[in-house]
Amino acid sequence: MVIGIKQVFSEICAMGISAEEKVPMSQYTSFKIGGNAEIIAFPSSEEQIAALLKLCKENTIPYFVLGNGSNLLVSDEGIAGVVINTGGLSALTYEGNGVINCGAGVSLSKLCNFALENNLTGLEFAFGIPGSVGGAVYMNAGAYGGEMKDVLLDCVYLAEDMSLKTVPVSDMALGYRSSMFAKNKGIVLSARFRLCSGDKKEIKEKMSEIIERRRSKQPLEYPSAGSVFKRPEGHFAGALIEKSGLKGKTIGGAAVSEKHAGFIINKGGASAKDVNDLIKYIQDKVLENSGVLLEPEIKTVGK
Ligand SMILES: Cc1cc2nc3c(=O)[nH]c(=O)nc-3n(C[C@H](O)[C@H](O)[C@H](O)COP(=O)(O)OP(=O)(O)OC[C@H]3O[C@@H](n4cnc5c(N)ncnc54)[C@H](O)[C@@H]3O)c2cc1C
Repeated sequence: MVIGIKQVFSEICAMGISAEEKVPMSQYTSFKIGGNAEIIAFPSSEEQIAALLKLCKENTIPYFVLGNGSNLLVSDEGIAGVVINTGGLSALTYEGNGVINCGAGVSLSKLCNFALENNLTGLEFAFGIPGSVGGAVYMNAGAYGGEMKDVLLDCVYLAEDMSLKTVPVSDMALGYRSSMFAKNKGIVLSARFRLCSGDKKEIKEKMSEIIERRRSKQPLEYPSAGSVFKRPEGHFAGALIEKSGLKGKTIGGAAVSEKHAGFIINKGGASAKDVNDLIKYIQDKVLENSGVLLEPEIKTVGK
Protein backbone atom coordinates (compact mmCIF):
# COMPACT_ATOMS: atom_id res chain seq x y z
CA MET A 1 0.00 0.00 0.00
CA VAL A 2 1.31 3.41 -0.95
CA ILE A 3 1.35 5.94 1.90
CA GLY A 4 1.29 9.76 1.81
CA ILE A 5 3.87 12.27 2.95
CA LYS A 6 2.47 12.52 6.52
CA GLN A 7 2.79 8.77 7.03
CA VAL A 8 6.22 8.78 5.40
CA PHE A 9 7.32 11.23 8.08
CA SER A 10 5.98 8.93 10.82
CA GLU A 11 7.74 5.96 9.18
CA ILE A 12 11.05 7.82 9.06
CA CYS A 13 10.78 8.65 12.76
CA ALA A 14 9.73 5.05 13.54
CA MET A 15 12.93 3.86 11.81
CA GLY A 16 14.89 5.93 14.34
CA ILE A 17 16.04 8.46 11.74
CA SER A 18 16.07 12.03 12.92
CA ALA A 19 13.77 14.18 10.74
CA GLU A 20 11.85 17.44 10.71
CA GLU A 21 8.88 18.75 8.75
CA LYS A 22 8.55 22.07 6.95
CA VAL A 23 12.07 23.31 7.47
CA PRO A 24 13.28 26.40 5.56
CA MET A 25 16.01 25.34 3.15
CA SER A 26 17.55 28.78 3.68
CA GLN A 27 18.98 27.20 6.85
CA TYR A 28 20.79 24.57 4.78
CA THR A 29 22.14 26.55 1.84
CA SER A 30 25.18 28.82 1.66
CA PHE A 31 22.97 31.28 -0.30
CA LYS A 32 20.60 31.46 2.72
CA ILE A 33 17.75 31.17 0.23
CA GLY A 34 14.99 28.59 -0.21
CA GLY A 35 11.47 27.72 0.87
CA ASN A 36 10.48 24.78 3.06
CA ALA A 37 11.53 21.19 2.60
CA GLU A 38 8.41 19.09 3.23
CA ILE A 39 10.65 16.72 5.21
CA ILE A 40 14.35 16.86 5.92
CA ALA A 41 15.92 13.65 7.22
CA PHE A 42 19.29 13.22 8.90
CA PRO A 43 20.40 9.62 8.39
CA SER A 44 23.46 8.67 10.40
CA SER A 45 24.54 5.62 8.41
CA GLU A 46 24.61 4.18 4.90
CA GLU A 47 21.90 1.69 5.97
CA GLN A 48 19.61 4.55 6.99
CA ILE A 49 20.16 6.24 3.62
CA ALA A 50 19.21 2.99 1.88
CA ALA A 51 16.10 2.66 4.07
CA LEU A 52 15.05 6.24 3.20
CA LEU A 53 15.57 5.66 -0.49
CA LYS A 54 13.49 2.47 -0.34
CA LEU A 55 10.70 4.23 1.55
CA CYS A 56 10.59 7.08 -0.98
CA LYS A 57 10.67 4.78 -3.97
CA GLU A 58 7.97 2.43 -2.65
CA ASN A 59 5.67 5.37 -2.04
CA THR A 60 6.64 7.43 -5.10
CA ILE A 61 7.75 10.30 -2.87
CA PRO A 62 10.38 12.56 -4.49
CA TYR A 63 13.71 12.89 -2.72
CA PHE A 64 16.69 15.19 -2.98
CA VAL A 65 20.23 14.44 -1.81
CA LEU A 66 21.75 17.36 0.10
CA GLY A 67 25.44 17.86 0.79
CA ASN A 68 26.56 21.16 2.33
CA GLY A 69 24.14 23.12 0.13
CA SER A 70 26.96 25.29 -1.23
CA ASN A 71 26.09 24.97 -4.90
CA LEU A 72 22.32 25.24 -4.68
CA LEU A 73 19.57 27.68 -5.49
CA VAL A 74 16.44 26.29 -3.83
CA SER A 75 13.16 27.74 -5.09
CA ASP A 76 11.04 30.01 -2.92
CA GLU A 77 8.30 27.35 -3.02
CA GLY A 78 10.65 24.85 -1.40
CA ILE A 79 11.28 21.17 -2.08
CA ALA A 80 8.58 18.51 -2.26
CA GLY A 81 9.15 15.15 -0.59
CA VAL A 82 12.21 14.20 1.43
CA VAL A 83 15.53 16.03 1.55
CA ILE A 84 18.19 13.51 2.53
CA ASN A 85 20.94 15.32 4.45
CA THR A 86 24.19 13.37 4.04
CA GLY A 87 26.00 15.16 6.90
CA GLY A 88 25.84 12.02 9.07
CA LEU A 89 28.16 10.07 6.77
CA SER A 90 31.15 11.32 8.68
CA ALA A 91 33.67 8.46 8.79
CA LEU A 92 37.25 9.45 7.99
CA THR A 93 40.12 6.94 8.08
CA TYR A 94 43.66 6.65 6.79
CA GLU A 95 44.17 3.26 5.16
CA GLY A 96 47.91 3.72 4.62
CA ASN A 97 49.88 4.03 1.35
CA GLY A 98 48.44 7.50 0.78
CA VAL A 99 44.82 6.31 0.71
CA ILE A 100 42.12 8.14 2.72
CA ASN A 101 38.62 6.70 3.00
CA CYS A 102 36.01 9.34 3.63
CA GLY A 103 32.24 9.47 4.20
CA ALA A 104 30.26 11.57 1.73
CA GLY A 105 29.15 13.98 4.45
CA VAL A 106 32.64 15.04 5.51
CA SER A 107 33.47 18.62 4.57
CA LEU A 108 36.29 19.15 2.09
CA SER A 109 38.06 21.38 4.59
CA LYS A 110 37.98 18.64 7.24
CA LEU A 111 39.32 16.17 4.67
CA CYS A 112 42.12 18.58 3.70
CA ASN A 113 43.08 19.04 7.37
CA PHE A 114 43.07 15.26 7.84
CA ALA A 115 45.42 14.90 4.85
CA LEU A 116 47.67 17.54 6.41
CA GLU A 117 47.72 15.70 9.76
CA ASN A 118 48.86 12.59 7.89
CA ASN A 119 51.53 14.48 5.87
CA LEU A 120 49.70 13.82 2.60
CA THR A 121 49.81 16.20 -0.34
CA GLY A 122 47.50 16.58 -3.36
CA LEU A 123 44.29 17.97 -1.86
CA GLU A 124 45.48 21.48 -1.03
CA PHE A 125 43.59 22.95 -4.03
CA ALA A 126 40.29 21.93 -2.40
CA PHE A 127 40.91 23.71 0.90
CA GLY A 128 38.19 26.32 1.36
CA ILE A 129 35.71 24.89 -1.17
CA PRO A 130 32.70 24.83 1.16
CA GLY A 131 31.24 21.52 -0.04
CA SER A 132 30.93 17.99 1.29
CA VAL A 133 32.89 15.13 -0.23
CA GLY A 134 29.70 13.73 -1.84
CA GLY A 135 28.84 17.10 -3.40
CA ALA A 136 32.43 17.55 -4.55
CA VAL A 137 32.47 14.15 -6.27
CA TYR A 138 29.06 14.84 -7.87
CA MET A 139 30.31 18.23 -9.15
CA ASN A 140 33.94 17.18 -9.77
CA ALA A 141 34.75 20.29 -7.75
CA GLY A 142 38.00 22.01 -8.55
CA ALA A 143 40.08 25.13 -8.07
CA TYR A 144 43.57 26.53 -8.62
CA GLY A 145 44.53 23.92 -11.20
CA GLY A 146 43.24 20.85 -9.34
CA GLU A 147 40.01 18.88 -9.41
CA MET A 148 38.53 15.85 -7.65
CA LYS A 149 39.37 13.72 -10.68
CA ASP A 150 43.11 14.12 -9.93
CA VAL A 151 42.93 12.74 -6.39
CA LEU A 152 40.01 10.30 -6.32
CA LEU A 153 40.66 6.58 -6.35
CA ASP A 154 37.12 5.19 -6.25
CA CYS A 155 33.77 5.66 -4.57
CA VAL A 156 30.89 3.63 -3.20
CA TYR A 157 27.41 4.68 -4.20
CA LEU A 158 23.85 3.55 -3.79
CA ALA A 159 22.39 3.00 -7.25
CA GLU A 160 18.80 3.80 -8.22
CA ASP A 161 18.00 0.06 -8.15
CA MET A 162 19.12 0.06 -4.48
CA SER A 163 22.31 -1.92 -5.14
CA LEU A 164 25.65 -0.84 -3.64
CA LYS A 165 28.30 -0.22 -6.25
CA THR A 166 31.99 0.61 -6.17
CA VAL A 167 33.24 2.61 -9.13
CA PRO A 168 36.84 3.53 -9.99
CA VAL A 169 37.57 7.17 -10.81
CA SER A 170 38.10 6.28 -14.49
CA ASP A 171 34.44 5.19 -14.76
CA MET A 172 32.85 8.18 -13.03
CA ALA A 173 32.68 10.30 -16.23
CA LEU A 174 34.22 13.23 -14.37
CA GLY A 175 34.28 16.33 -16.55
CA TYR A 176 34.15 20.05 -15.96
CA ARG A 177 31.80 20.33 -12.95
CA SER A 178 30.07 17.12 -13.98
CA SER A 179 29.97 13.42 -13.19
CA MET A 180 27.92 10.36 -13.98
CA PHE A 181 25.94 10.82 -10.76
CA ALA A 182 23.80 13.58 -12.26
CA LYS A 183 22.65 11.07 -14.89
CA ASN A 184 22.42 7.81 -12.96
CA LYS A 185 21.04 9.44 -9.76
CA GLY A 186 23.45 7.41 -7.62
CA ILE A 187 23.91 8.57 -4.02
CA VAL A 188 27.61 8.84 -3.19
CA LEU A 189 28.17 7.21 0.21
CA SER A 190 31.95 7.34 0.51
CA ALA A 191 35.03 8.04 -1.55
CA ARG A 192 38.68 7.05 -1.39
CA PHE A 193 41.45 9.49 -2.27
CA ARG A 194 44.98 8.60 -3.30
CA LEU A 195 47.51 11.19 -2.15
CA CYS A 196 51.31 11.39 -1.98
CA SER A 197 53.62 11.74 1.00
CA GLY A 198 54.63 15.33 1.52
CA ASP A 199 56.23 17.79 3.87
CA LYS A 200 53.75 19.03 6.50
CA LYS A 201 55.14 22.57 6.52
CA GLU A 202 54.90 22.85 2.72
CA ILE A 203 51.37 21.42 2.66
CA LYS A 204 50.29 23.86 5.36
CA GLU A 205 51.86 26.80 3.52
CA LYS A 206 50.06 25.87 0.30
CA MET A 207 46.73 25.58 2.14
CA SER A 208 47.23 28.98 3.79
CA GLU A 209 48.17 30.54 0.47
CA ILE A 210 45.03 29.15 -1.17
CA ILE A 211 42.75 30.36 1.63
CA GLU A 212 44.37 33.79 1.40
CA ARG A 213 43.72 33.91 -2.37
CA ARG A 214 40.07 33.00 -1.73
CA ARG A 215 39.69 35.67 0.97
CA SER A 216 41.21 38.37 -1.20
CA LYS A 217 39.25 37.53 -4.38
CA GLN A 218 35.88 36.20 -3.20
CA PRO A 219 33.04 38.01 -1.38
CA LEU A 220 33.07 35.54 1.53
CA GLU A 221 31.42 38.10 3.79
CA TYR A 222 28.09 37.57 1.95
CA PRO A 223 25.99 34.43 1.45
CA SER A 224 26.46 33.01 -2.07
CA ALA A 225 26.76 29.74 -3.96
CA GLY A 226 30.22 30.55 -5.36
CA SER A 227 30.69 31.10 -9.09
CA VAL A 228 27.25 31.14 -10.64
CA PHE A 229 28.32 30.29 -14.18
CA LYS A 230 30.59 27.68 -15.71
CA ARG A 231 33.79 28.96 -17.33
CA PRO A 232 32.93 29.37 -21.03
CA GLU A 233 35.53 27.96 -23.42
CA GLY A 234 38.24 30.60 -24.01
CA HIS A 235 36.77 33.12 -21.54
CA PHE A 236 36.21 33.82 -17.83
CA ALA A 237 32.59 34.35 -16.80
CA GLY A 238 33.55 37.04 -14.25
CA ALA A 239 35.50 39.05 -16.82
CA LEU A 240 32.64 38.90 -19.36
CA ILE A 241 30.15 40.05 -16.68
CA GLU A 242 32.46 42.87 -15.59
CA LYS A 243 33.01 43.95 -19.22
CA SER A 244 29.23 44.16 -19.62
CA GLY A 245 29.20 46.73 -16.80
CA LEU A 246 27.24 44.53 -14.44
CA LYS A 247 29.32 44.71 -11.25
CA GLY A 248 26.95 45.79 -8.48
CA LYS A 249 23.83 45.19 -10.61
CA THR A 250 21.05 44.45 -8.12
CA ILE A 251 17.63 42.84 -8.39
CA GLY A 252 15.76 42.72 -5.07
CA GLY A 253 18.20 41.37 -2.50
CA ALA A 254 20.48 39.73 -5.09
CA ALA A 255 23.51 41.54 -6.50
CA VAL A 256 26.49 40.92 -8.75
CA SER A 257 29.45 41.07 -6.36
CA GLU A 258 31.68 44.15 -6.68
CA LYS A 259 34.61 42.00 -5.55
CA HIS A 260 34.15 39.09 -7.99
CA ALA A 261 31.65 39.55 -10.82
CA GLY A 262 31.27 35.78 -11.20
CA PHE A 263 29.51 35.65 -7.81
CA ILE A 264 25.90 36.63 -7.10
CA ILE A 265 25.57 37.57 -3.45
CA ASN A 266 22.58 37.69 -1.13
CA LYS A 267 22.75 41.21 0.28
CA GLY A 268 19.88 40.43 2.63
CA GLY A 269 16.45 38.89 2.07
CA ALA A 270 17.12 37.80 -1.53
CA SER A 271 14.57 35.38 -2.94
CA ALA A 272 15.30 32.63 -5.42
CA LYS A 273 13.26 34.67 -7.90
CA ASP A 274 15.59 37.65 -7.42
CA VAL A 275 18.60 35.42 -8.17
CA ASN A 276 16.94 33.76 -11.17
CA ASP A 277 15.92 37.14 -12.59
CA LEU A 278 19.49 38.41 -12.12
CA ILE A 279 20.92 35.29 -13.79
CA LYS A 280 18.64 35.84 -16.79
CA TYR A 281 19.55 39.53 -16.91
CA ILE A 282 23.29 38.73 -16.85
CA GLN A 283 22.91 36.04 -19.53
CA ASP A 284 21.04 38.44 -21.84
CA LYS A 285 23.51 41.31 -21.36
CA VAL A 286 26.63 39.14 -21.78
CA LEU A 287 25.19 37.47 -24.87
CA GLU A 288 24.39 40.88 -26.35
CA ASN A 289 27.86 42.22 -25.51
CA SER A 290 30.15 39.33 -26.32
CA GLY A 291 28.08 36.66 -28.06
CA VAL A 292 28.71 34.16 -25.24
CA LEU A 293 25.81 32.35 -23.57
CA LEU A 294 26.74 31.77 -19.92
CA GLU A 295 25.64 28.43 -18.54
CA PRO A 296 24.79 28.22 -14.83
CA GLU A 297 27.07 26.06 -12.67
CA ILE A 298 24.79 26.25 -9.64
CA LYS A 299 22.00 23.69 -9.34
CA THR A 300 18.43 24.95 -9.21
CA VAL A 301 16.17 22.73 -7.13
CA GLY A 302 12.59 22.84 -5.96
CA LYS A 303 8.95 23.03 -6.84
C1 LIG B 1 32.13 30.76 -1.39
C2 LIG B 1 32.07 29.58 -2.31
C3 LIG B 1 33.21 29.21 -3.03
C4 LIG B 1 33.17 28.10 -3.88
N1 LIG B 1 34.30 27.76 -4.56
C5 LIG B 1 34.28 26.68 -5.38
C6 LIG B 1 35.45 26.30 -6.09
O1 LIG B 1 36.51 26.90 -5.96
N2 LIG B 1 35.37 25.22 -6.89
C7 LIG B 1 34.22 24.49 -7.04
O2 LIG B 1 34.21 23.49 -7.78
N3 LIG B 1 33.09 24.85 -6.39
C8 LIG B 1 33.09 25.91 -5.56
N4 LIG B 1 31.95 26.26 -4.89
C9 LIG B 1 30.70 25.52 -5.12
C10 LIG B 1 30.47 24.32 -4.18
O3 LIG B 1 31.15 24.47 -2.95
C11 LIG B 1 30.91 23.01 -4.85
O4 LIG B 1 30.18 22.77 -6.03
C12 LIG B 1 30.72 21.80 -3.92
O5 LIG B 1 31.31 20.67 -4.50
C13 LIG B 1 29.24 21.48 -3.64
O6 LIG B 1 29.20 20.52 -2.61
P1 LIG B 1 27.98 20.47 -1.59
O7 LIG B 1 28.23 19.35 -0.64
O8 LIG B 1 27.74 21.78 -0.99
O9 LIG B 1 26.82 20.05 -2.57
P2 LIG B 1 25.30 20.59 -2.60
O10 LIG B 1 25.33 22.03 -2.94
O11 LIG B 1 24.58 20.19 -1.37
O12 LIG B 1 24.74 19.77 -3.84
C14 LIG B 1 25.25 19.97 -5.14
C15 LIG B 1 24.77 18.81 -6.03
O13 LIG B 1 25.40 17.60 -5.58
C16 LIG B 1 24.44 16.61 -5.26
N5 LIG B 1 24.96 15.83 -4.12
C17 LIG B 1 25.44 16.30 -2.94
N6 LIG B 1 25.88 15.29 -2.18
C18 LIG B 1 25.66 14.14 -2.89
C19 LIG B 1 25.89 12.76 -2.65
N7 LIG B 1 26.43 12.31 -1.50
N8 LIG B 1 25.55 11.87 -3.62
C20 LIG B 1 24.99 12.27 -4.78
N9 LIG B 1 24.74 13.58 -5.06
C21 LIG B 1 25.08 14.49 -4.13
C22 LIG B 1 23.16 17.39 -4.89
O14 LIG B 1 22.01 16.60 -5.05
C23 LIG B 1 23.26 18.55 -5.89
O15 LIG B 1 22.75 18.17 -7.15
C24 LIG B 1 31.97 27.36 -4.02
C25 LIG B 1 30.83 27.73 -3.30
C26 LIG B 1 30.88 28.82 -2.43
C27 LIG B 1 29.66 29.19 -1.64
